[in-house]
Amino acid sequence: MNELDSELVHAQLAALGYTFGDTRSAADVVLFNTCSVREQAENKVLSRVGELGVEKKAGRQVVVGMLGCLPEREGKQLLSKYPQIDFLCGPSELDRLPTLLHNAMVGEKLSVADRSALQGNRSRRSAALSAADDNLELLDLSRAYNPDFRESNGHSAYVRITRGCNKFCTYCVVPNTRGAEVHRPPHSIIEECRKLVESGAIEITLLGQTVNHYRYTHGVAIGAHGNEVPQIGPGLTAFKKPIDDNQHVTTFANLLQSIHDEVPELQRLRFVTSYPIDFGDDILEVMRDCPRICNYLHVPAQSGSNRILKKMNRGYTVEEYLKFVERARLILPDVEIAGDIIVGFCTETDEDFEATKLLLETVRFKNNFVFHYSPRPGT
Ligand code: SF4
Repeated sequence: MNELDSELVHAQLAALGYTFGDTRSAADVVLFNTCSVREQAENKVLSRVGELGVEKKAGRQVVVGMLGCLPEREGKQLLSKYPQIDFLCGPSELDRLPTLLHNAMVGEKLSVADRSALQGNRSRRSAALSAADDNLELLDLSRAYNPDFRESNGHSAYVRITRGCNKFCTYCVVPNTRGAEVHRPPHSIIEECRKLVESGAIEITLLGQTVNHYRYTHGVAIGAHGNEVPQIGPGLTAFKKPIDDNQHVTTFANLLQSIHDEVPELQRLRFVTSYPIDFGDDILEVMRDCPRICNYLHVPAQSGSNRILKKMNRGYTVEEYLKFVERARLILPDVEIAGDIIVGFCTETDEDFEATKLLLETVRFKNNFVFHYSPRPGT
């Protein structure tokens, strides 16, 4: 997700005439796009900000901006703690970056509030409002028109289909930094895929924190020009019951099928990250029937211990996870399954750890991203 945000920022600023260098030392502007999932990543960025502080004190003229989840999590206090930072821009406010940057470049004396574009705790409270008034949608779409795509990105591209998350796993800052789940209208997503393919992409990866939650109800979120706009997700209980026959809904399976059929020049379609529950057979069947959708699932288990899964608020048991794997392999015998594991979660015992090892041996994942648990403020 952060990589895509960086791509969008790059394209947005390039379109305004900014050019990009390889080193920090010669730059007039340094932007840090930050991740808050682990403490180590935050510490690295703050140490680089510290170095720039020393240089600025010594007389270097450079504008420093901090983007992404770290400013969203820490808030405006970062500006007083690190006076070398000129502005802050949260992940849901990236469309406001050019204004923040311009003001900093011309040296306007602005208040702390005017140097920060953050959702703060509005990110969950006013999700409906921010979904309807969604300038990020324009940002996503604008990247697709970049004629230099092939040169700058190779042949792979990311397309975001949902933003935010409604899950609240107890270790994770994402629901607070990226806000509630917002789903983009399918026609925008398909159009973006088409434009990317025209620009040279041969592989597209659809992105969402829980990508299989994608569900767009038509006729509900309509913009000022009568067009469909992003809408907040249907909530977790919606996945426990059948879709209402009276509603016109595009499910994740429908979306995959539409992209596959309506963008025939696209050679490979992938998606990350899947959640092990709320993952219907319809998705697996579309994967089976559409030859250009890759037989690959990234479905984090996080732990092989039911006690730890409960503490993590993951909402499934090991047995349910294994049932999902069995179902996936029944419908897609060649499917490759990857995952994530957190070790050292609060109160994890040797017994819990052994249970996780057993899960790994049982599933025989293609690969797993294994992380040491990193306590995060607010989780
Ligand atoms: S599903 Fe859990 S881990 Fe993934 S983004 Fe949402 S809260 Fe975080």
